[in-house]
Amino acid sequence: MVLYSHSRISTFLNCPYRFKLKYIEKIRPEIEQSVEAFLGSTVHETMEKLYRDMKFQKIATLKELISYFRDQWEKNWSPSILIVRKDYKPENYMKMGEKFITDYYNTHKPFDQTKTVGLEQRIVIDLNRNGKYKLQGYIDRLALTDDGTYEIHDYKTNSSLPLKEYIEEDRQLALYALAVKDSYPNARKIRLIWHFLSFNQDVMLEKTDEELEKLKLSVISDIERIESAKDFPTKKSNLCEWCEFRSMCPEWAHIARTEGLSLKNFLKEPGVSLVNRYAELTAKRKEIDAEMDTVKEKLTEFAKENNVTTVGGSGYAARIWSAEKFKFPGKNDEGRADLEDFLNKAGLMKDVAALDTFLLSNKMEDTDWPEEIKKAVAKFGRKELIERIYLRKKNCD
Ligand code: SF4
Repeated sequence: MVLYSHSRISTFLNCPYRFKLKYIEKIRPEIEQSVEAFLGSTVHETMEKLYRDMKFQKIATLKELISYFRDQWEKNWSPSILIVRKDYKPENYMKMGEKFITDYYNTHKPFDQTKTVGLEQRIVIDLNRNGKYKLQGYIDRLALTDDGTYEIHDYKTNSSLPLKEYIEEDRQLALYALAVKDSYPNARKIRLIWHFLSFNQDVMLEKTDEELEKLKLSVISDIERIESAKDFPTKKSNLCEWCEFRSMCPEWAHIARTEGLSLKNFLKEPGVSLVNRYAELTAKRKEIDAEMDTVKEKLTEFAKENNVTTVGGSGYAARIWSAEKFKFPGKNDEGRADLEDFLNKAGLMKDVAALDTFLLSNKMEDTDWPEEIKKAVAKFGRKELIERIYLRKKNCD
């Protein structure tokens, strides 16, 4: 039985290929972690110290806390930590961490608003209550208020303040709420609290039992998707910049390999020169297509003005054809449903409908068609390798 975690599931949802490398093939990447992740874990360790001291009736001074943060930073820093934003140095990130801690300290001092129940507390949720799908996580700080409310605190070091919808849809803390409900029979009221340390802002939310039940079902369905997955395609997004497998990912490996080359060697590299030529020709083709449209328009006008249907050139003659035809609403246009309804009722649909083989081919990849139907349909066609080239900007967007 696999013990799932929120991050394991989100890795699959964000990029199945990364999931495969990380959890199935268990590949050790060259990059240890990103500086953002390192900053996040060092800040978390410092927060843990703050509240651990509190349990022993000691309130650390801000100076002690900052010095603890710096010690942890220096002790654990490694040159293999990835800094994506090349304009900034590790010191910049260290100063950010100091600012986060200082702001939090000054806002929440003397830290006696709640009693700490657990720090970095491991929780395990039995999602379907038969042990089949278990999920584990660690709560940054579990606290109890005087009125008996349990609070799940989470420290975020993101550099952007998430939108309301993100908070409402964030599943991690809500899943922890399920575990707290199971583990603490007196936990009737649970509050989720995100501390966005870059902005010194706290966001709170409570979830109803119905919302938590719905969430449980959606997590079970995600786990079932993971367990039945046969393909693990790459899924490009802005997360790629921070991905530890970028250098071995088919979407990025060539780009990563050629990044460090001198300009001369870069331009000589076979892949680079082929893409540059392809991009040049694509741009030329666009220019030619635009010119073709202009010439076509002028030729049509010329034919009309001279009252001819054919215009002669050196070795060719151009025949200009025109006719008035009906134009009907397209697939997604207004009026399409009415038109289809009319044709169906009049029994004329079969005269004008044609099999869409493109759509049929896509349906063969679809999961909602039964396998036996797909097998039967497959007999009418054959598999062909289709190769296409799409030009895109080199960055992650
Ligand atoms: S670089 Fe992007 S596409 Fe490639 S494995 Fe990582 S997240 Fe997936």
